[in-house]
Amino acid sequence: MSDTISSLSLKDLQKGIVDGDFSCMEVTEHYLERIAKHDSALNSYLTVTKDEAIVQATQADNAIRSGEIKSPLAGIPYALKDLFCTKGIRTTAASKILDNFISPYDATVQVKLQNAGGVLLGKNNMDEFAMGSSNENSAYGNVQNPWDLSRVPGGSSGGGAACVAARLASFALGSDTGGSIRQPASFTGITGIKPTYGRISRFGMIAFASSLDQCGPMTRSAEDAALVLQTLAGVDANDSTSADEPIPDYSATLDNSLEGLTIGLPKSFFADGLNQAVAESIDKAIDQYKKLGANIKEIELPHSDLAVASYYVIASAECSTNLSRFDGVRYGYRCENPKDLLDLYERTRWEGFGEEVKRRIIVGTYALSAGYYDAYYRKAQKIRRLIKQDFQDAFKEVDVIMAPVAPNTAFKLGEMVDDQVSMYLADLYTIPVSLAGLPGMSIPIEQANGMPVGLQIIGNYFDEARLLNVAHQYQLNTDHHLQTPEQFK
Ligand code: GLN
Repeated sequence: MSDTISSLSLKDLQKGIVDGDFSCMEVTEHYLERIAKHDSALNSYLTVTKDEAIVQATQADNAIRSGEIKSPLAGIPYALKDLFCTKGIRTTAASKILDNFISPYDATVQVKLQNAGGVLLGKNNMDEFAMGSSNENSAYGNVQNPWDLSRVPGGSSGGGAACVAARLASFALGSDTGGSIRQPASFTGITGIKPTYGRISRFGMIAFASSLDQCGPMTRSAEDAALVLQTLAGVDANDSTSADEPIPDYSATLDNSLEGLTIGLPKSFFADGLNQAVAESIDKAIDQYKKLGANIKEIELPHSDLAVASYYVIASAECSTNLSRFDGVRYGYRCENPKDLLDLYERTRWEGFGEEVKRRIIVGTYALSAGYYDAYYRKAQKIRRLIKQDFQDAFKEVDVIMAPVAPNTAFKLGEMVDDQVSMYLADLYTIPVSLAGLPGMSIPIEQANGMPVGLQIIGNYFDEARLLNVAHQYQLNTDHHLQTPEQFK
């Protein structure tokens, strides 16, 4: 049985635990063994919380047996991107500046998963402070893509994506500011959803760009994602930007028919720059949707080409203020023997932050400075408004929008590290969705160039249930989401 544990859906895993086919402890030990055996090839975990996991598994087994917990995630082992605060457990955001940081409290999502009886396996590697598209910006080394160890897993939630793809956790939580759940999901062949901004609390999630950051599930299937989102969604008194909107039963509508669904295809997203093999794979996925009864409509998103430029002004501006709290005084890394307060600030930040983080802080500070604020920051905000309006117009005519997630499949490690502009352009199709605050999802479709490809499904505000339904219907009729990289079977 234990050979198949890591290939079970969350529903079957939970049923197996409740029915007594295996215990939560057996499942947890199975995953811990897989991590011990395989993670040296991937570097997807920064911290493995083995001792805590064993304690939580014992508690979950007892609570399930006594009927105290009935959640669909009871006894399920999971991993968290290392920017979710975990009480008593090191939380680094993959930065040297937080190398010694042990959080005094739990992020709301961690509280919810623990209350549901989940078992934390550990904390995933990521790009430092979630800035990056390849996971090469981690202070603790890059992550390898389980489908080809010479390639990147995408970023910034690259550790979570690699670990779910290699079956080293049954699901993981990532964060997406401009594509960091969807792009690594696409590169590693897993299912990832970035919900509507505000759907899930950001409390205890180390901030990068607060008006864009959103937590979301990284899973093997839409069916699994529905269960995880159900547990996480909801307003939180600790996060004033979390949304007080009704929460539907995400699993209840998964089986709805797609007959008559209208899918919008933004013409400009399929123009030059999209890899031919990726485009062909997307065409086939769209054909599958036609077979399922969907209608296709071409749409325009006229301001999307301005999205990347606008994003890098807004995200950098917000990061420059968010990261000012890391000053060597309050917590985290402190430089040695500072000669005065200014020297303490300067050297702590110079030594503690990596290159990309410093680049963004400099750009952001510049964009916010008097004299440049109007030219850059205000203009970027205006563009953001126009992009949002484009989507609102499109959703008057279509139910969902489909697009590529990234222009290409996973690139080679080191291939783009010295070319920031190309790296930034890798998020061309995900960033507009983030700027508009809309929900977006990546599901694995037919591979291209020997590597996984994701299809992006974009929905209207708080329409996650529809995204999950649309994704699930595809997954019922295909098996791309069930593929496991050879080495990790
Ligand atoms: N790659 C983008 C960036 O570097 C997006 C990152 C993210 O979504 N956290 O900013």
